[in-house]
Amino acid sequence: MSKRSLSILGATGSIGKSTLDLIRRNRDAWDVVALTANCQAAELAALAREFDAKVAVVADESCLADLRDALAGSGIEAQCGPASLIEAASRPVDLTVAAIVGCAGLAPTMAAIEQGRSVALANKESLVSAGDILTAAVKRSGATLLPTDSEHNAIFQCLAGNELADVRWITLTASGGPFRCWSTDQLASATREQALKHPNWDMGAKITVDSATMMNKGLEFIEAHYLFPVGLDRLRIVVHPQSIIHSMVEYRDGSTLAQLGPSDMRVPIASCLSWPERMDTPCAPLDLPAVGQLTFEAPDESRFPATRLAREAIQAGGAAPAILNAANEVAVAAFLAGQITFTNVALTVARVLDAGNLPPGPRCVEEVLEIDSEGRRRASAILEMS
Ligand code: NAD
Ligand code: MG
Repeated sequence: MSKRSLSILGATGSIGKSTLDLIRRNRDAWDVVALTANCQAAELAALAREFDAKVAVVADESCLADLRDALAGSGIEAQCGPASLIEAASRPVDLTVAAIVGCAGLAPTMAAIEQGRSVALANKESLVSAGDILTAAVKRSGATLLPTDSEHNAIFQCLAGNELADVRWITLTASGGPFRCWSTDQLASATREQALKHPNWDMGAKITVDSATMMNKGLEFIEAHYLFPVGLDRLRIVVHPQSIIHSMVEYRDGSTLAQLGPSDMRVPIASCLSWPERMDTPCAPLDLPAVGQLTFEAPDESRFPATRLAREAIQAGGAAPAILNAANEVAVAAFLAGQITFTNVALTVARVLDAGNLPPGPRCVEEVLEIDSEGRRRASAILEMS
């Protein structure tokens, strides 16, 4: 493969660092253009120096002085703030890895899509909040969206060479998270530390809590709807605690194709980096005798209502998915800050949606961001009352 250029939005995060680990092993194959972070100036500067990036951007303007100091003498541009983030994401590259967490990633991800090149999408919240707008931008710009989320990457691989019209079911697998076998009473007293211990995956804090509440699978259900529009009634979720099968596609002739692999995000990331070819990774080969059993369970939406909330939000359409996502971001942050209990996370999202009176559906990114702010206000108001 000839040398290619790449930018990483969210370079200091779990997905960002896993991507850079693969780039480090194939250093000559890649030119790194932009690396961004929220605020981790020293870490971002070290990565920018190591990978000889052209520009490093911190979203948080108060971190610019630290970034400038850390990059002094390197010749690497140091930038800050939302406009610089968008400018850096707009610089032409062969591939952008969109790995910012939360709706904060929407505008830079859209800027990358507008380039009309390839975008490896990990930032599921942007697709949940702005699915129609983002997929329309992909069509308009001619960009190639490469799903990086392990389930969606699995589906993408299982769909290769097939027609969506021939799909009977798309089955998203879910690990069930650390509390899969916990009772409702136990869930009420689940702690931050317990929620942050995922049985199979090592990920950022927000998605790890989302996995524990099952909202991650709810967001992924919506993500799958936009990436693979087979109709909501053809999407289903099955709990598969071993996280070996990353998702499946069943065709109308009765064939089911599944993608299997170790629980290591470098596998789907590598698939995006090398697509449509393949590359080597240091990931452990799949040792099925060591895994022993692959088991499956139906999701329990009475203990974990988040998947139902997400399904109802996408069925309602309009502003509902963006409001769901915003309320969830606020509730997860409150749980991580020790302000609310674990079960209050999904309850807060449910209360915001149940209150109704949602704003009209968004027509552009600015309107999504307004809806996102409104969802955050409503969730915060509910948290203050409780
Ligand atoms: P993380 O918290 O480890 O990293 C997030 C990155 O985004 C960091 O670089 C951080 O500096 C940056 N960031 C945070 N807030 C920001 C803001 N307001 N503005 C600009 N940048 C900001 O998160 P992660 O686990 O790497 O997840 C990133 C995205 O990928 C999420 O949408 C997540 O759902 C998705 N994803 C992650 C995994 C995983 O294994 N970690 C798997 C599938 C999907
Ligand atoms: Mg996933």
